[in-house]
Amino acid sequence: MRQKITITGIVQGVGFRPTVYRFAQQFKLTGFISNTPSGVHIEVQGKNVDVLEFVKKLKTNPPILAKIDQFIATDIPIVFDEVEFAIVESVDTGFKNVEISPDIATCPDCLEDIFNPQNRRFHYPFTNCTNCGPRFSIIVDRPYDRQHTSMNTFTMCSLCQCEYEDPLDRRFHAQPNACAACGPKLHMLENDTFKTTGDLITLSAIHVENGAIGAIKGLGGFNIVCDPQNLQTIKRLREGKNRPHKAFALMMKNIEIIKQHCVVTKEHAQALQMPQAPIVLLKKKTKAFEHISPDNNYLGVMLPYTPVHHLLMEHLDLVVMTSANRADEPICIHDEDVKQLINLDIVDFALSNNRPIVHRCDDSIIQVIDKQKQFIRRSRGFVPSPLKVPGTFCGPSLSLGANMKNTFALQADNQVYLSQHIGELVDTRNYNFQKSQILDLANLLEVDHHNDTHCDAHPGYENFNKDFKQIYHHHAHMLSVMGEHQLLGKQVVGVICDGVGFGSDGNIWGFEFLVTPEDDHRDFIRVGHLKNFHLPGGDQATFEIDRIAISLALNNINALPVYFPSARSQMIATLIEKKLNAPLCSSLGRLFDGVASLLGLKNRVSYEAQAAMLLQRSAENISNNHLFEIDKYSTIIENHGGVQVIDYHSMIIEVLKDLENGINTDVIAYKFHVWIVDSIVTMLKKLGPTPVVFSGGCFQNALLTRLLSDAVDDLEVPYFFNHEVPCNDGGISFGQALV
Ligand code: ZN
Ligand code: ZN
Ligand code: FE
Repeated sequence: MRQKITITGIVQGVGFRPTVYRFAQQFKLTGFISNTPSGVHIEVQGKNVDVLEFVKKLKTNPPILAKIDQFIATDIPIVFDEVEFAIVESVDTGFKNVEISPDIATCPDCLEDIFNPQNRRFHYPFTNCTNCGPRFSIIVDRPYDRQHTSMNTFTMCSLCQCEYEDPLDRRFHAQPNACAACGPKLHMLENDTFKTTGDLITLSAIHVENGAIGAIKGLGGFNIVCDPQNLQTIKRLREGKNRPHKAFALMMKNIEIIKQHCVVTKEHAQALQMPQAPIVLLKKKTKAFEHISPDNNYLGVMLPYTPVHHLLMEHLDLVVMTSANRADEPICIHDEDVKQLINLDIVDFALSNNRPIVHRCDDSIIQVIDKQKQFIRRSRGFVPSPLKVPGTFCGPSLSLGANMKNTFALQADNQVYLSQHIGELVDTRNYNFQKSQILDLANLLEVDHHNDTHCDAHPGYENFNKDFKQIYHHHAHMLSVMGEHQLLGKQVVGVICDGVGFGSDGNIWGFEFLVTPEDDHRDFIRVGHLKNFHLPGGDQATFEIDRIAISLALNNINALPVYFPSARSQMIATLIEKKLNAPLCSSLGRLFDGVASLLGLKNRVSYEAQAAMLLQRSAENISNNHLFEIDKYSTIIENHGGVQVIDYHSMIIEVLKDLENGINTDVIAYKFHVWIVDSIVTMLKKLGPTPVVFSGGCFQNALLTRLLSDAVDDLEVPYFFNHEVPCNDGGISFGQALV
């Protein structure tokens, strides 16, 4: 028999053709495979049983990096005089709809090559194959072949060329294929020196051991590396990066070392060892890294994912591995950028190479809550793989995302391509990076979006344009979960627990209950929310969070703990009274800030969500121990003309009373988390038995998400969280795309 098989998805540049070739040899089949505009086209011919076994094997054992969307096998007439199985060169097909593979961590086979002294790639730091190595970070144009990547200036030596042309070789058509004789080389930058010779990796390791701060070129940019156990070095790094408290990620040599320092469940181990090699948040086992992540119980850890990392980690068990940049600017990708960091004395040396990075791409961050993965940041290793959203769309579109943790999204047909992490758009360098990436990605993915652009409805955002389709922030959060779980067009309640977003009444929203009308997810009704409070000083209150505490306790200002100086309390109370720059808000993130400040955990924060993390950490001290039965704060929900409003006043009064009675702040923090869960559950009961979607940055709080899931389980309605896109503002562009 003869069968024709068409396969779509990520099937090019991932070793699909050699795999098919090998299987065809194994079952003694004739026929061919060729790339098509939308995937691959295979025809196989042989004994019935062999053809069917071949199909079964290909379905169950595709190459590890392949992602099959559609697999269609049909019988076709026998062809006579066919004697072999061939890989047919694809003549210019246009390659439309063929997905571009993301960057992938070094595979086990390549590691064997790198650490085998007999192998010709022994210690070669740019070893890769069709199963691993750089992809998105080096692609300039399509189709994906060598001359369209930043490897185009390297000519393969005869040995590499043979591998590249041999269908049975692991490096068959591996576009970045290289070896020491023909490929990229390391170099080292120090103050006035440029070294290309010597063992630069060992030298870097020695520098790090001696307390130096280095920058190492990875896949999507430079990372800063240094010794996490050297307090002096970390202090200098925090000053240099202007990052006084925020956590740094660590790279550790292997899982065994990670287990010495962190709690690693089966799911965590799986996440760490994914081919995308993300940073995974893990619970700290000891106090050893308090200075690395001072505000929470977790440590962001990743495994080595390039040959350079593996070679470096031969000498070191663990290093800081954070993006090379100052504060919130884009991560460095050029030598020129890191030279600046050297000149500013932020880093001492850079281990670089002559393989240019085309697309900047920060490390991805994942956490595991109740065995489910949650993206904190979806970037390297995942971008530009599209997210599929079944259902019909109008023409192609561009969604510009939110202002913080920005990503943008290009949408074509049923696919949404979420960009890499862009960052905070108030920084013009990030804004410019966004603009250039939009052009680049739209060109690469051939998405002509020019007639349809979506932006956040906040008139103060950098991307706001009255000619664009404006989408309310929390509506976009809601849609992001609906899109992930095929709920578009269904009636659901969206519960959004978030920082801040511009609402349709002109106020700042952030703890919202929204309902989409049946059949029309493009619209929403606000059926409930947290009662508004004032943000005295506006944006200033984001960092001076004692302003929020005073605002929340306004009617009980005399009951404030002693660490609120009365002059300041009075000044802020006056601001609110006279309505001087004190906008109204219903944000849960800001409520977290205010309660954290009431408890005396912090009055000023250096980054958003710092106080919320401290409050979570404090509450986790209780939930981890289950020491005693805990009474609850009152949940009060009032009906304001059909809109259900969660009143926080009695909760605040009860918090102040607990403080006065000397109740442990950990207990109060825990009770506050329970109060949020109770408020949500009470509200959901009022709103009736409808499926629920949860989104918003507050769900990065693993304790809140866990407590809420447990409570909602009892309601017996289906409920959904974000799993494939971040629940924070990194997922906003995805939600916008679905309107
Ligand atoms: Zn490999
Ligand atoms: Zn070579
Ligand atoms: Fe948000």
